[in-house]
Amino acid sequence: MNIILLGPPGAGKGTQASRLQDERGMVQLSTGDMLRAAVKDGTPVGLKAKAIMEAGELVSDEIVSGIIGEALDKLSPETGVIFDGYPRTAAQAESLDAILAARGRKLDHVIELAVDEEALVERITGRFTCGNCGEGYHDTFKQPKQAGVCDACGSTEFKRRPDDNEETVRTRMTEYRAKTAPILPIYKSRHLLKKVDGMAAIDVVTSQIETILG
Ligand code: AMP
Repeated sequence: MNIILLGPPGAGKGTQASRLQDERGMVQLSTGDMLRAAVKDGTPVGLKAKAIMEAGELVSDEIVSGIIGEALDKLSPETGVIFDGYPRTAAQAESLDAILAARGRKLDHVIELAVDEEALVERITGRFTCGNCGEGYHDTFKQPKQAGVCDACGSTEFKRRPDDNEETVRTRMTEYRAKTAPILPIYKSRHLLKKVDGMAAIDVVTSQIETILG
């Protein structure tokens, strides 16, 4: 099964994708995670992407479609994939069709996480992760049980994404509205689009998605 999670930044795509990965043995392909790794490693892609990501703008379609194709080539054909943060433009949606077809895959579902934009700013600007294991936290909604210590691994190192500040988040939302939201009707007309309430509790969203996937 190949599915896309679509929604604005902070809608919960990454959280839901990692749950599906753990529960269904699918693989999460997050272009944001792959680009952040490239920036950290200082690869040619990372060098091109760094300033664009820090500004909250979109990296070029060629770069992201290239890394998606490479990531798919590392998976066996039977492995199910969750696309998280890709496609983000009409050109990427078109490329994805070609990339999947060339590998004998097809798109099964496109799931839109529908959310209230103002709530997203609070969600995003408050989030942080464990620097060691990646466990996610939030200033208001999910503090570590013991202040300053990761519940999952005991590490005391935490980090925040450089693009999770209010100004950049507003740019990321504008990019979403202008370039990503217009691909929703494309998938709707292909009868692939399903909408879930991304404002519901995390477990409720997961079960809505599970119902869609069957
Ligand atoms: P994300 O982790 O999905 O919020 O992505 C973080 C940043 O990486 C975005 O604000 C973009 O700058 C870049 N990015 C991630 N995925 C894409 C994509 N599919 N197309 C263009 N830029 C992307």
